Amino acid sequence: MRGELEEILRSLETPLLFASKNNFSNLDKIPELGEDIRKISTKLLTGKFPEEIKTPVMSLRNSFSDFKRLTRPEKTRRISSALGVIRRIKGVSVPQPARTEKKPSPRNRGAGFFGSVSDIPGVGARVASLLEKRSVRAVYDLLFYRPRKYDDRRNITSISELLPEGNYTVRGRVVSVGEIRNRKRSFFQVRLRDGTQTLGLIWFNYNPRYLRGLFQKGRNFIIHGKVSQAPGRGGTLQIIHPLPQDIEIIEHEEDIGNPLQFGRIVPVYPLTEGLTQKKLRESVKNALDGSARNFEGLLPEDIRERHGLMHLPEALEQVHFPDGDLPLIDFDDSRSVAGSRAHRTVIFFEFFVLQLGLLLKKRNVEKSRGVPFNSSCPMADKLLRSLPFSLTRAQEKAISEIAADMVSPNPMNRLLQGDVGSGKTLVALVSMLRAVESGYQAAIMVPTEILAEQHFRNTIRMTGDMGVKTVLLKSGLSKTEKLRVHEEIRIGDADIVVGTHALISEAVDFKALGFVVIDEQHRFGVLQRAGLVRKATAPDVLVMTATPIPRSLAITVYGDLELSVIDELPPSRKRIKTFVLSDTQRNRAWFYGQIRKELGEGRQAYFVYPFIEESENEDFRRIRHVTGMVEELRGEFSEFRVSFIHGRMKSDERDAVMDDFLAKRCDILVSTTLIEVGVDVPNATVIVIENAERFGLSQLHQMRGRVGRGEHESTCYVVYSFISGEDSGERLRIMGETSDGFRISESDLANRGPGEFMGTKQSGVPGFSFANLVRDSALLSESRDSARELMGKERNLGRYEKLFRHVRAKWGSMLELDTSS
Ligand code: ADP
Ligand code: MG
Repeated sequence: MRGELEEILRSLETPLLFASKNNFSNLDKIPELGEDIRKISTKLLTGKFPEEIKTPVMSLRNSFSDFKRLTRPEKTRRISSALGVIRRIKGVSVPQPARTEKKPSPRNRGAGFFGSVSDIPGVGARVASLLEKRSVRAVYDLLFYRPRKYDDRRNITSISELLPEGNYTVRGRVVSVGEIRNRKRSFFQVRLRDGTQTLGLIWFNYNPRYLRGLFQKGRNFIIHGKVSQAPGRGGTLQIIHPLPQDIEIIEHEEDIGNPLQFGRIVPVYPLTEGLTQKKLRESVKNALDGSARNFEGLLPEDIRERHGLMHLPEALEQVHFPDGDLPLIDFDDSRSVAGSRAHRTVIFFEFFVLQLGLLLKKRNVEKSRGVPFNSSCPMADKLLRSLPFSLTRAQEKAISEIAADMVSPNPMNRLLQGDVGSGKTLVALVSMLRAVESGYQAAIMVPTEILAEQHFRNTIRMTGDMGVKTVLLKSGLSKTEKLRVHEEIRIGDADIVVGTHALISEAVDFKALGFVVIDEQHRFGVLQRAGLVRKATAPDVLVMTATPIPRSLAITVYGDLELSVIDELPPSRKRIKTFVLSDTQRNRAWFYGQIRKELGEGRQAYFVYPFIEESENEDFRRIRHVTGMVEELRGEFSEFRVSFIHGRMKSDERDAVMDDFLAKRCDILVSTTLIEVGVDVPNATVIVIENAERFGLSQLHQMRGRVGRGEHESTCYVVYSFISGEDSGERLRIMGETSDGFRISESDLANRGPGEFMGTKQSGVPGFSFANLVRDSALLSESRDSARELMGKERNLGRYEKLFRHVRAKWGSMLELDTSS
């Protein structure tokens, strides 16, 4: 399969190389280049190839979709960037075929950072494929493979010197293994001897087969843990339930003298089945020996000195194999990390490289010429006059910031951040009208079909009488409908296009797309944003998000965007009363009584559950689900109309249910998180979210935002249960304390970390390894300032060519940096 991948990549690269030869003199000789590239890319997308190549290939393919009609400079740009993408796929994602013969010298020739790990001596095909399971493919990945923790092996204590209640690292050979049953209970015991005395390892909960397999008689182990004394007079010393990560097997006795493994602080890496600490330590060491010096000089010297940082090669060496007398680093402790120059250096560098990438991208965008839209916009004025309310000051400010960007000939890239219900849609609509009135098309992309429907309906309701034509594009359309909409978009009949990600589908071809809105950006990936933007030469882009992103994350993820903030809610909004209850406190009579009262007054309610139906998985049996609760609620609220909605329903069924709810033909809507974003039904005043422990805080905040949209007082019930044995009450309490999305998201970030918070996969949050956005936010802003300074003051970035090459190699495809710039 690997061979096949290489072959297809080659067939992709050949025509591109031919086209680019001699300053693209062959370009006109291959009129079908676009078609060919797309055909070959399709093979890559449909074949059984590694997942991670799909996104870059997809964007490569998209970039050739309207190739014939492009200007020559644009063509050459796309060819160069495609060649870059192919090179990266070859270098990073495709492990090179393993070498069979061992290289003679441990001093390897210093593979490039982004070369495959199998270039490292001692890393054969087997280890390379194990590393791949941990997403370590390139030499770079291994150099930045962060230890889970460090073990202090400077001092290994003899068993005879252990004292009860102390924490120690000991080494010993297994002398006996077995289950011991006495009248009271049975337990598993391993006895280790180190030449001075014997230490017991004890398990009360255990898998005997596993323990017997691991602790074979005669094997040597190194164990870390808290020592206690067995009950009774003169009881032996023991460690009870040593943690798996604190047990390490010493494969060969001679390793005890191995300076990588003992007598020092050693890194403890995340492992995968079949990979040992020893192998990893050796591989990292070899990678450092061979390649760390390539980092020499990457960090500009003045910046390095000013921030008190080390030279990178040295710092990298130190974060894996810290020097003798340094304190042990604790990754959970920001002071501990900040106290290590080596760690600070590596973390700074990770941030710095990304910041440079973001600034490069921003500069590229600014350089290109965009559309100068009209400054006056009668349609928008008319729309605003027709509203039953007036804009908030924050809305007005956002609208005028956007208008200023639109009128200027530079392409706009702006993030509009505003809490749930702050009225972002209106800001977008007004701006879209400006584009339409200036003779361009505008598109708005939203994450769910329900939301697309809603935006579509609202847009028509508000602009229908102005002669603006709005169309809806979603995946649920029939083939003929879809073709018709595509045609309307292509010939320019459609002024405003509302759609889901179906919009990025390449069959969609705009006549004159000038303005792009991406609603609820946090639900899309960075690359998807680019996908739609590429449908036009240099459209103005407005990205909207309701999940207020903590500043540290905003800088990272949206560093290439300008920021507008809507920091006030319409004055008519009332605070949403929020109750955080555990399932056991959920007194049914009271709880349903409250809701019945609201419904009796003509209001409506949402009930949200994590699952559609009962889970097949034993562990999730007790989690509530839509199907079951519809039954219960229909019984309980027999005098009201209960409907339900979830992601497995057909799109027109879902539309019908939403229509019913909006038109108040139904009182209770039972749903999955499908209604999480954007849905706007002002008469709904109650939302019940059960098994809330399964949701993130920001997600709960979003869901809560479904109510409190009208004139009536609203209530939110956040109900959690103890199914997983852990008490979520503490984490969820903040929901009752504040309705400030910023505070909630900051708390979310602290609880769950940035990856989960943003959903790493979908939003493409940069995968840092040593750096942590929350813990190291001070270093993040330092690196940001330094990157700005470097880009700002240096006319001649050529001095930093190596650094910028590194930036492009690391972030080029993710940020879609122009490889030639
Ligand atoms: P979000 O920012 O969460 O996308 P929406 O744009 O959906 O919020 O707006 C929520 C509701 O508030 C809508 O019903 C909208 O018509 C209404 N709205 C918007 N702006 C104002 C305002 N200035 N005053 C009162 N209501 C407003
Ligand atoms: Mg919205």
